[in-house]
Amino acid sequence: MGRRIAGTPGADGIAVGPLWRYLAAESPRRGASFGASAGSGASAGSGAGDPVAAIRAASAEAARQLEALAERMRGLDRADEAGIFDAQALMATDPQLLDEAVARAEAGEDPRTAVEGAAAVASGVLAALPDELLAARAADVRDVGARIVRIMMGQDVAFPETPSIAVAEDLPPSIAAEIPAGLLLGVALEGGSPTAHAVILARGLGIPAVVGVPGLVEAAGSATSIAVDGESGAVVLDPDQSQLADFAARAEALAASSRAAAALRGRPAATADGERVILLANIGGPEETARALEAGAEGVGLFRTEFLFMRRQSAPSEDEQVEPYRRVFEAFGPRRPVVVRLADIGGDKALPYLDLPPEANPFLGVRAIRLAARSRELLAAQLRAIWRAAGRAGVTPHVMAPMVATVADARLLLELRDEARAAAAASGDPLPERMVTGVMIEVPSAAILAPELARLVDFFSIGTNDLTQYTMAADRSNPALAYLQDALHPAVLRLIAGVVAGADEAGIPVAVCGELAGEPAGALVLAGLGVDELSADAGSLDRVRAALAGVTRPQLADLAKRALAATDAASVRAMAGELLAPREPREPRSRA
Ligand code: PEP
Ligand code: MG
Repeated sequence: MGRRIAGTPGADGIAVGPLWRYLAAESPRRGASFGASAGSGASAGSGAGDPVAAIRAASAEAARQLEALAERMRGLDRADEAGIFDAQALMATDPQLLDEAVARAEAGEDPRTAVEGAAAVASGVLAALPDELLAARAADVRDVGARIVRIMMGQDVAFPETPSIAVAEDLPPSIAAEIPAGLLLGVALEGGSPTAHAVILARGLGIPAVVGVPGLVEAAGSATSIAVDGESGAVVLDPDQSQLADFAARAEALAASSRAAAALRGRPAATADGERVILLANIGGPEETARALEAGAEGVGLFRTEFLFMRRQSAPSEDEQVEPYRRVFEAFGPRRPVVVRLADIGGDKALPYLDLPPEANPFLGVRAIRLAARSRELLAAQLRAIWRAAGRAGVTPHVMAPMVATVADARLLLELRDEARAAAAASGDPLPERMVTGVMIEVPSAAILAPELARLVDFFSIGTNDLTQYTMAADRSNPALAYLQDALHPAVLRLIAGVVAGADEAGIPVAVCGELAGEPAGALVLAGLGVDELSADAGSLDRVRAALAGVTRPQLADLAKRALAATDAASVRAMAGELLAPREPREPRSRA
């Protein structure tokens, strides 16, 4: 019997096949040192013997390779992944990274160590961020550093010769994308997270992936084949006949259910007896709009704007922000609302230009709307840009503030919004009449104050990731506390029920844009609690739509009632799991 190890689901699907090990540090192809073999154009007479020239030449070559990968992804209609490699191509020649590497080389470090050190510094800054998506960019910077080193050292990655499943501590997205089409059947990683780019890429290409498999690399030592279940998060090394038969049966059942789910795509999401639930997409930039529209999103429920504020030496100007917002507004047009979230930065997202003092508890610190007290202009400029972008696109913008904790926070948002409109009028851009303005409910005090907040704003959007973290007092990035991080905990659900009641009284809609909204079990409970809109990653929308179509309004009402009366998250999952049959209940997704 093959050894089974439980990890975390990364990308849906089942794969079985030969195992291909990817080792981050490949041995040099020609036993070369940097000066002798900068290869594939990088040496070109400039690198030999001069470490600084070698670093510069290799970084230029790395940028060229990454641009070519971006082109390849565009050719496959994978705009998101193309965006990743475009960004990496910029990182490869980023002056800060290069200056750091060159300074280290000039101070006597060998070029390889200099580049690795510079990349480690840059990735360390990103890795410390509490936002999972942004922290996942840390791996991209390390990957760029490793590519520059490989070019300097004349190394190659030996790709699999037959269709295989990649097994690694971590798999850089650029390696995953370089593997020739058809040769990558699945991915199993000891490290990684569901939001790591290699996993996003795998999801985009329909390749099953499992992440966070403890001890995988060592356990896989002598194995020749592996089975990967991207739904449950399990892997089996050298599966025997009966395990192979189980996997084949699961694969068939999954294929049938995703065919059925995809068939519902053109239709609005609703329960079997006609209760509508609006399905929206979470996006992180303009390059993600096509995927969201393809998935049938009726708009964007959460446009995370932090990407504009990262990897820079100064805050983006109002003018620089207008274009990306306009592109998103235009892609969705006047009938599909786009909710722009004001920058969720500050605290331990210590951007160099913010000059914030270090904090002992950054998650409880000066973050998001609280930043206005220190740097009002940061949010003001963003709001002016949103007014102007919406005017150019001819749409009514929707905006929300994260981390609202008090009624004063909500009043401040309205004040900033109105000041921004008055100031934006001077730009000459046409401006929309109004901005639909909401608050995120992700701090327990905001949930408790829902009746008062609902009288001030146009909508609520519940951020279950943070609401769970703050309700359970469990740092969302601490894997040791994963058992406290399930948003289906009745303590969180009771707060959500109160938020819905407060919103109903004032007649405003409630959305959920945390990860719970993208899980079938979560979607059923939330719809039962009376949530009007669910916003999730585009890749989750099919299965949420299918889950809703399989239940009736009375079933959801009964589920919600029982969930609110429960005392732990596991019982709530079991209750929702019964309604999701005949699909097997999923293991809870870990967000950590
Ligand atoms: C949330 O907290 O649920 C949320 C959607 O915001 P983020 O994950 O970006 O903090
Ligand atoms: Mg949040």
